[in-house]
Amino acid sequence: MASQNLLLLPGDGIGQEIMLEVKKVIAWYNAKGGMSFETDEGLVGGSAYDAHGKAISEEDMAKAMACDAVIFGAVGGPKWDDVPYDVRPEAGLLRLRKDMELFANLRPAICYPALADASSLKRDVIEGLDILIVRELTGGVYFGEPKEIIDLGNGQKRGIDTQVYDTYEIERISGVAFELARTRRNKVTSMEKRNVMKSGVLWNEVVSQTHQNGYQDVELEHMLADAGGMQLVRWPKQFDVIVTDNLFGDMLSDVAAMLTGSLGMLPSASLGAPDGVTGKRKAMYEPVHGSAPDIAGTGAANPIAMIASFSMALRYSFEEVAAADLLDKAIAAVLDKGLRTKDIASEGQATVSTSEMGDAIVAELDALSA
Ligand code: NAD
Repeated sequence: MASQNLLLLPGDGIGQEIMLEVKKVIAWYNAKGGMSFETDEGLVGGSAYDAHGKAISEEDMAKAMACDAVIFGAVGGPKWDDVPYDVRPEAGLLRLRKDMELFANLRPAICYPALADASSLKRDVIEGLDILIVRELTGGVYFGEPKEIIDLGNGQKRGIDTQVYDTYEIERISGVAFELARTRRNKVTSMEKRNVMKSGVLWNEVVSQTHQNGYQDVELEHMLADAGGMQLVRWPKQFDVIVTDNLFGDMLSDVAAMLTGSLGMLPSASLGAPDGVTGKRKAMYEPVHGSAPDIAGTGAANPIAMIASFSMALRYSFEEVAAADLLDKAIAAVLDKGLRTKDIASEGQATVSTSEMGDAIVAELDALSA
């Protein structure tokens, strides 16, 4: 079987600790899961700055462009608070997203039954929840020009951000959403603000057109983004895939994610356009959380967001759906058995360390595949 090349970029803080756990999972799939992953490792963030004076070296950047998927930990920490802005740790992450043209950000919100009581919502509202937010990541108001603060000369200033979307950007992100919906429950909800924004009118038109042109088998619904925010906390199980722009996606994906519990549980994927020759998409998989300097080095980090990010790589980069399902089941099983890192433990509950949680998930892979 042809090997798949993974570039592991642990980064800083707990990024390094959780990457050790995902390596155990990768080793399991190589030894017992019928797969062949070759891994290379690089530096990003503060650790790259310490070694090279920049947030990612050209050599590691070239490896990221050439590999089949990047598995990314987290960057940042107080040690690098005072480094120059353009080489700050986050610049490494932004460079990866930009150069790899990762325009589609996928954030699942899944409620593991064992953690349903940890949600701020009632159990019946979130138990069994499994939705996917697809956020446009490289356009919209975060990047549109003009973007400036101008002095009006009368003691007033004006801050300007510009929301801009072109047809092709909406077509490609909605195409990703429709294709993902086909592998799930076949429904897409598109969210914008067409009632007050011209970019929302265009978004709505182009999503409908894209649907008409190739995805009529998928159910499409349009919802104003503010109403969508309300519906997400009222009855989130009505959704399957939500597609939305960069700004609304930023907020709605945080809302959806927190329906289900701790930052330590939340994976993500960022995908680029399919390569014209191979059809493969550039891709990066990373937990939603940061480098958690407050707990780094204490063995308290929850590795599940990182391991579940690798499950997304199996699903979306390698189309190994059965292998991804197995890993998701192993995660659910350790939670069912009551294993908890500190961030997801209830008061007085016994906790396990980062490496104990990783080992338990690997043992569960063994048990489930025996
Ligand atoms: P954070 O996500 O690192 O931590 C927020 C809180 O959640 C902390 O209390 C932390 O201990 C806890 N937490 C996070 N992940 C956890 C896990 N896996 N297990 C258990 N607990 C976990 O956010 P922050 O504290 O605002 O930022 C810390 C650093 O991380 C900053 O330098 C920030 O810029 C950076 N950051 C990086 C990324 C990224 O690399 N993608 C994302 C967010 C923040």
